[in-house]
Amino acid sequence: MAYDDTNIFARILRGEIPAKSVYEDEYALAFHDINPQAPQHILVIPKGPYQSMDDFTAHAPDALIAGFFKAVGHVARQVGAAERGYRILANHGADAHQEVPHLHIHIFAGRPLGPMLTPMKD
Ligand code: 5GP
Repeated sequence: MAYDDTNIFARILRGEIPAKSVYEDEYALAFHDINPQAPQHILVIPKGPYQSMDDFTAHAPDALIAGFFKAVGHVARQVGAAERGYRILANHGADAHQEVPHLHIHIFAGRPLGPMLTPMKD
């Protein structure tokens, strides 16, 4: 499937719609999630047309992959989350309920975050 450049994060990257930005460099943009699930809930997106973690790790140049992941760590430190702890999460595809088809890493912090996943029912 081709990258859809009308997705909401592509539009944020182009400055067409506003976002509460917390960090930007040549590789990444970070901004607050519009519907926060934790006291701190930040999204970090790469500056490139990649739908998800799968597309990004298969097709992005090494410099962008390195720069993007360094930005994620930098943002977590910048907002003071590194000391007490934080969780990062990236949804890819239908089973993970990915809503926006531009790779984004969620950073959650600011409270005890509970178990990683809802326990499986058998
Ligand atoms: P996903 O389920 O794709 O991993 O997460 C998408 C995230 O994007 C959700 O947490 C949702 O609240 C957030 N989101 C959706 N639309 C917007 C928007 O227009 N602005 C911001 N800042 N976040 C958004």
